[in-house]
Amino acid sequence: MPPPPRPIYLDYNATTPVDPRVLEYMLPWFTEQFGNAASRTHLYGWEAEEAVALARRQVAGTIGASEKEIAFTSGATESNNLAIKGTYEANSHRGSHFVTVATEHKAVLDSFQHLEGWGAEVTYLLPAADGLITVKQVAEVLRPDTVLVSVMYANNEIGVIQPIAEIGKVCRDRDVLFHTDATQAVGKVLVDVDKDHIDLLSLSAHKLYGPKGAGALYVRKGVKLTAQLDGGRHERGLRSGTLNVPGIVGLGKACELASAELPAEAARLANLRDQLENSILGTIKKTQVNGNRENRLPQVTNISFGGVDGEQLLMNFNRIAVSSGSACTSASVEPSYVLKALGVPDDLAYASIRFSLGRFTSEDHIAAAIAHVQEVVTRMRQGIEIR
Ligand code: PMP
Repeated sequence: MPPPPRPIYLDYNATTPVDPRVLEYMLPWFTEQFGNAASRTHLYGWEAEEAVALARRQVAGTIGASEKEIAFTSGATESNNLAIKGTYEANSHRGSHFVTVATEHKAVLDSFQHLEGWGAEVTYLLPAADGLITVKQVAEVLRPDTVLVSVMYANNEIGVIQPIAEIGKVCRDRDVLFHTDATQAVGKVLVDVDKDHIDLLSLSAHKLYGPKGAGALYVRKGVKLTAQLDGGRHERGLRSGTLNVPGIVGLGKACELASAELPAEAARLANLRDQLENSILGTIKKTQVNGNRENRLPQVTNISFGGVDGEQLLMNFNRIAVSSGSACTSASVEPSYVLKALGVPDDLAYASIRFSLGRFTSEDHIAAAIAHVQEVVTRMRQGIEIR
C-alpha cells in the first residue's frame, strides 16, 4: 500500500520550509566554502567573511537598518533574551522598570520573569478582546525609571499587528528604549526601524523560508547592551561564538527574496486566507475569528469552533497540518494563554485552530482544506465517528 498522502501544510507560523532558492545558495557554505568568518589569514576565512557581510546588508535592507546594526544570533529566542537581559544589565543607571504585554511569546515573557528575579519591576499590559493594545496604555505606565518597552510586532497565534510606530514614537519622546519581537512580521509586512522608531528588533530565519537556528537582533546605533555569552567577542562584542555561515547566508537570501516578493505575495495570501475564513464562517455555525481582523498579518486566521471538543477536533483534522491555540506540554494541554488574555472562555480556547498559509499554499490546497474542515465539523456535531 502506498503511504497515505501527507496532510496539507497550514502551519507556516510554526515554521516554514527552506525555499529551494535559499537552500541552493546555502549549500557551498557547508562544503567547499566552509571557512571560519573570523579567520583573517587565508581565502577560506575571507570569502566567509564577505558572504556574512552581504547577508548583513540583506537583513539590514529588509528592515531599513544599517548593516552595522545587525548582530547574528541562533534565532529569535536568543535575540529576545539578548535584547531584554542585555538592556537590563547595561542600563541600570536608567532604572529598573520594564513594560511588556501579556500576549508576548514565551521567549519574551520568560526573559522578563528572569529580570524580575534579578530585581526588575515589570508591567504587563493586557490587550483588549481583539488582541490589540493602545498607545495610550503604554504612555500611561511609562515612568522616569522605565528602561525598556517590549511589544511584539505581530502575534504568532492570532496574527494581530500592534500599533508599533505609535508606541515607538511615545517611547522615543519619553527617552525609553523600544524593543519589538518582529519574528512573525518581517517578510510578511513592511517593517522599517526608523519609521517605527524601533531601537531593538528580533527576527528569525525559519519563519521566512530560511533555515532553523539562524536569526538576528537589530541594535540601533548608540543603544547599550551587555552580551549574554562570553567568549571571542564576535558580532562587535554582542554575541560570541563562531558564526553559523550557512545559516547566516541563508537568512540573508531569505530576507532578500521575502522583501522582493512581499507586496504581491501578501495580497495573494490575504486573498486565500479570506477565502478559507469566509467559507468556514459562512458555512459552519458557531465559528468566530479570534483577534482583530483589520490589523492582522495577511496569511493567518485563528478560528474557534463552538460546541466541539478541541482535542478531538485537532485529531480529526488529519488531512491538514494546523495547530490549536493551545500550548502543549508533555504532561498537560493548557488552553492558549494568548486567547485567555483576550477573554476567550476555556472550552472555546481549546477548540480554536490557527490556520497559517505560506509561499507554497495553492488555491487547490485551500479548496481541499475548506471541504475537509466542513466535513469534520459537521460529522462531529452529528456524532458521526470519523475514520
Ligand atoms: N517570537 C515569536 C513571535 C515566535 O513566533 C517565535 C517562534 N515560534 C519565536 C519568537 C522564537 O523564535 P525561534 O524559533 O527562532 O527561537
